[in-house]
Amino acid sequence: MKEREVQQQGCAVDGRPPRERLRRAVRASTFEDWRMRARVKSSDRATTAPIRESAMAGGWQVDDMVIHRIVEDQRGERPFDFFFPDAPRELLAPHRGWFDAQGLDPANGNLLMSYHAYVVRTPRHNVLIDSCIGKGKNLPMAPSWHKRTDNRWMEEFAATGLKVEDVDYVLCTHLHADHVGWNTILVNGAWVSTFPNARHLMVDEEYLFTGDWVRQHADDMSVIAQSRRAAWEQSILPIVDAGRVDFVEATHVLDDYFRLIPTPGHTPGHVAVGAGRDRDRAVFTGDLIYSPIQMQLPGMRMILDADQALAVDTRRAFLESYAETDTLICTMHFPAPSAGYLRRWRDGYRLDFVEPGICTGRHATASFA
Ligand SMILES: [Zn+2]
Repeated sequence: MKEREVQQQGCAVDGRPPRERLRRAVRASTFEDWRMRARVKSSDRATTAPIRESAMAGGWQVDDMVIHRIVEDQRGERPFDFFFPDAPRELLAPHRGWFDAQGLDPANGNLLMSYHAYVVRTPRHNVLIDSCIGKGKNLPMAPSWHKRTDNRWMEEFAATGLKVEDVDYVLCTHLHADHVGWNTILVNGAWVSTFPNARHLMVDEEYLFTGDWVRQHADDMSVIAQSRRAAWEQSILPIVDAGRVDFVEATHVLDDYFRLIPTPGHTPGHVAVGAGRDRDRAVFTGDLIYSPIQMQLPGMRMILDADQALAVDTRRAFLESYAETDTLICTMHFPAPSAGYLRRWRDGYRLDFVEPGICTGRHATASFA
């Protein structure tokens, strides 16, 4: 679909798949598909191509890919209860030890959140997955997002050895303000693409949903509405208008390495991204999971999920699919190092974090008590 057509059809809410269909997709075919793709089969173990040390600096080597985490910020800005308003205290009690250490900001006790993107370097392409908060964006919904002036994200990006010209694709898991920010930078008073040679892939349903939401909240002066309007106007529309966006299905496949995985709930068109030549060697979760506590309590309502029941179904199916596999789970908001292997634990799951380096799929860095 051409970008202008998509934009003009922006009010066609009826065109969206009904919720029940999405639910079935998560429960049935998608679930089996994920399970199949994540399993290790000895026959499909690919030989690992040599990777130059300079290309790997600071990243995870996963088969013949290198994954870099590009950090913009890590802080605890809001209390746990803001995100999980009805988390029963008795359910949380058994998790206080490991979760307080892993998931809360020691400075203030708030939910500790990292804001970072990932760059995946394959032998064919350099792909940016999500683009964080950005510089100078009008995002009053969080003081630390609002009109940021620092260059940490750009400095971390440069430390990978890549230039902005080297990015071939930008994939957005969804279009919330903290995932699209570095799509654009301000040049001579105009927002222009940060990555001059990149195609931006957006799921058409996500784009339609976001546009509808912004139009429906045109007069809403809440800080959330102001921020979402600004993300739309400053980080999304400028690249659409410049003809830089390819609108794709939530099941889109990009070359031999990348597959979008429909994971609706946080937003209707939300996708995770599977990466790997032959199967999902790594998967990028987007915001289908927010905090390590949801590994143990995936059914807990999260306030920012647009469809909270569907988000729970998606989260459970995702966790079940990738548990006990050697797929590197790359989360978007877990504190550093943010990525690891998914293991069954107690009545749920946990993420055994993995520091950057060569990934064999057999790390176990459990620090749970
Ligand atoms: Zn987010």
